Amino acid sequence: MKIKLFSALAAALLLMLLTSITCKQAGSKNNNSQPSLPIDPCIESQSNSIKAKIFSKSNIYSKAIANIKNAFSNDSLEHAISFGKDVSGNNIISAMSTGSGHSTGLEIIDNMFADIHNHTKETPPSSGDLYGFINMATENRHYETRYIITANGIVYALVIIDLQTARNFVIKYPKVTNPGYQPGFPDSLVDEFNELKGIYAASDEMAMAFILGKYNVGVALLKQDDHGNFKRLNTKKITNSNGLKTYIANNCQ
Ligand SMILES: [Zn+2]
Repeated sequence: MKIKLFSALAAALLLMLLTSITCKQAGSKNNNSQPSLPIDPCIESQSNSIKAKIFSKSNIYSKAIANIKNAFSNDSLEHAISFGKDVSGNNIISAMSTGSGHSTGLEIIDNMFADIHNHTKETPPSSGDLYGFINMATENRHYETRYIITANGIVYALVIIDLQTARNFVIKYPKVTNPGYQPGFPDSLVDEFNELKGIYAASDEMAMAFILGKYNVGVALLKQDDHGNFKRLNTKKITNSNGLKTYIANNCQ
């Protein structure tokens, strides 16, 4: 069975895929979200970070990374590979799919637990990646990690912190599909996302981390450091006594 990863400009070209991941950035919104529980986000995601690192040391992950990097160096396109398990519990790897400069298809395999795709630029996981990720996790009970590698080799991972919370998020903020554009956050979230970037000079990864936290998405954004550890990205809003807001990275160490 085949699934697809989509991004904005390629959406119109991918008519036959069953699923898509959008690799383009979008924004966020400003509706009331559930009040955050007083849980330390770094403790909350600790087991996910450890699992992401352990798998990243496996032979099939290394093979997938090498194949994707090699393919990208040849064609400058996106590629994806998925990971699952056979009946004996051994890790298995899918064939590599080839997409466009903004999206790619994805092979679905047995007991799929993770996938990886590359971005052709230095962009972190997009809102399309996020919605596709939650959808995959909803439909595949072992699935919980989506790795993304940028053109220069930075690795991010989306991980499920709480699947029911993630499902609630996509019900409350369903993805929006604009013709000719990739599916992603609804307009209000896009506006908030863009405000963080445009007014407060936040990076894409900071804006995405902020949205994930503020709207209780049930998904964490991790970034691999130079030691191979996957650290959760968090963005904190600070309001000064004069009412001015600033946003700072408050990432797990
Ligand atoms: Zn993507």
